Amino acid sequence: MTDTHKNLRALPGVDHLLELAKRDSRFSAIPRSVVLDSLRQVLEGMRKDILAGTGPVITDTLLLEKALSLAEEKIKPRLVGVINATGVVLHTNLGRALLCDDALSHITAIAKTYSNLELNLNTGQRGIRYEAVDGLICELTGAESAIVVNNNAGAVLLALNTLARRREVVVSRGELVEIGGSFRVPDVMEKSGCILKEVGTTNRTHLRDYETAVGENTALFLKVHTSNYKIEGFTANVALKDLVALGQNKGIPVMEDLGSGTLVDFSKYGLPHEPTVRDAVRSGAHVVTFSGDKLLGGPQAGIIVGKKAGIDEIRKNPLTRALRIDKLTLAALESTLGLYRDEEKALREIPTLRMLTLPFTEILQKADTLFQAIQKAIGPLADIQFSDMNSRPGGGSFPELDLPTRCVTVQPLNLTVSRLETAMRLSTPAIIGRIEGNRYILDPRTIQEGQDTIIASTLARILKEK
Ligand SMILES: *Cc1c(COP(=O)(O)O)cnc(C)c1O
Repeated sequence: MTDTHKNLRALPGVDHLLELAKRDSRFSAIPRSVVLDSLRQVLEGMRKDILAGTGPVITDTLLLEKALSLAEEKIKPRLVGVINATGVVLHTNLGRALLCDDALSHITAIAKTYSNLELNLNTGQRGIRYEAVDGLICELTGAESAIVVNNNAGAVLLALNTLARRREVVVSRGELVEIGGSFRVPDVMEKSGCILKEVGTTNRTHLRDYETAVGENTALFLKVHTSNYKIEGFTANVALKDLVALGQNKGIPVMEDLGSGTLVDFSKYGLPHEPTVRDAVRSGAHVVTFSGDKLLGGPQAGIIVGKKAGIDEIRKNPLTRALRIDKLTLAALESTLGLYRDEEKALREIPTLRMLTLPFTEILQKADTLFQAIQKAIGPLADIQFSDMNSRPGGGSFPELDLPTRCVTVQPLNLTVSRLETAMRLSTPAIIGRIEGNRYILDPRTIQEGQDTIIASTLARILKEK
């Protein structure tokens, strides 16, 4: 008998290992099916190694050890919290907006008990789920009516499908944008069953371009807030209110996709002016769509506001049912919106607003705290510096805006910056920083309270391991 055969025969059976695992307390919290799967996988791997002549000496202990780490890996949640040290406030890859405390407690309360989601408590009759928020949205935006759906891409699809199916929608070429995550205006328009009628040029579109595009089959003028890029130089575009005036003249409603859509005028807080939802409503748009989890700082949702006639039509579209918002989102949205009744409170308590409007003096304090924590933890293992840089709002809001910030930068002495970045990303919790100019950059703007010490101790562990 060859060694290979001998080794294969020496492999224990899965039942034997399962028995051992049952008596091993390290396996006690792991479901039996997962333990079994892991044991099988480990045995299979061993078999292959033996056949390839690369197997180590096999013992039950070794097999159990391997199965345990495999099983632990299997039951670990895939969706986990990370530390955002990028300074990008609305980071789409990192989950966009953080919810405020009110929203979190409302979610918990509604998730644990039955609710009046679709029951009108006054009449005992069937109620409408949007009623939890539609009045509040109207109050905050000045709109006649409102509805919320799963996300803003869904809101745009639904509105176009309702208002312009099989008919023409006139859009400026400069507004046929792609938003991250494969939302492209022309594609959404096609899926909604509309016929795209492009007008103007990439950099300039005039009112007369819209006017001459109007034909028998024109259903809608669409404006899209080009929220993630900016054309500079020789440009022209038509203001919403001028387009509305033209539309009134021709009997054509106007829709605006605001994208990030804000309820506060950021110019009051030293940031550039982003058109508010109230502005768009006041300009006379038939419907306006925007996201719940961009500048609003709430849960993922698509909010549609506008004239009662338009929203009523949208409510009747069967697609509305397919795109409907769930009760947890609704709870979070209601609480987040509620804070906007007192703008100061909203700025204080909604994390997105707080991070975007953080005074520079506070950034300096945060940077200092982070610097001290890191210095204390890693001593001479790296060169640590302050660096004045810029944070980005992200999430398709405030195109190209730089928010002045003070970063802490780390250059390890015994490790490449790229290996440091990787090791930080693979830590638990994962820490997401960036590399610039051969330094590892940590932007305090998006680092939450209590995370400084985690960052510092993770850095220390990685640099000392080296
Ligand atoms: C972000 C964005 C969307 C998509 O919104 P989601 O809430 O991500 O679905 C649509 N239009 C514009 C202009 C946007 O900026």
